[in-house]
Amino acid sequence: MTTSSSFLRIVFEKETCGRCGGCGNYSYCQQYGTMCFGCNGTGKRLSRRGKIASQKVQAFKVDRYSVPATEIEPGDRIVYSMLEGRKRATVVAVKADPLNEGHVHIETKTGGLGVLVDSLVEKIPTVQQFADEVIPYARRFKGATIEEIQ
Ligand SMILES: [Zn+2]
Repeated sequence: MTTSSSFLRIVFEKETCGRCGGCGNYSYCQQYGTMCFGCNGTGKRLSRRGKIASQKVQAFKVDRYSVPATEIEPGDRIVYSMLEGRKRATVVAVKADPLNEGHVHIETKTGGLGVLVDSLVEKIPTVQQFADEVIPYARRFKGATIEEIQ
């Protein structure tokens, strides 16, 4: 059990982007200008082992903290995928969806989503779970470093 006022976070190993050489710019296109797609314009991308660590930790969290949609309760913090990427939200209410049979409607502070009754929804680990379970798991990988934030 970790008891401390500081927080731990996992930093995945990065390397200079090989596509743009670290400047963040590459060939021009109408929609994104010269932003490099190898690194989203940051000049850095996950190294090979950073990527492996990131995928393993992600899979661990999905496996460990996903629960059936019907077990989600108000107050739960969840993470779900949208076209724009992964979103985090706090659940306000969970109801049967009258318009879509076999679905539940999960209402969050920032919107809502309809999911199949028997599908899994990923909950965000609590600070304690993160410290006691996710961090020790991440420590197994060379591509992950644990940092302390005060
Ligand atoms: Zn790049």
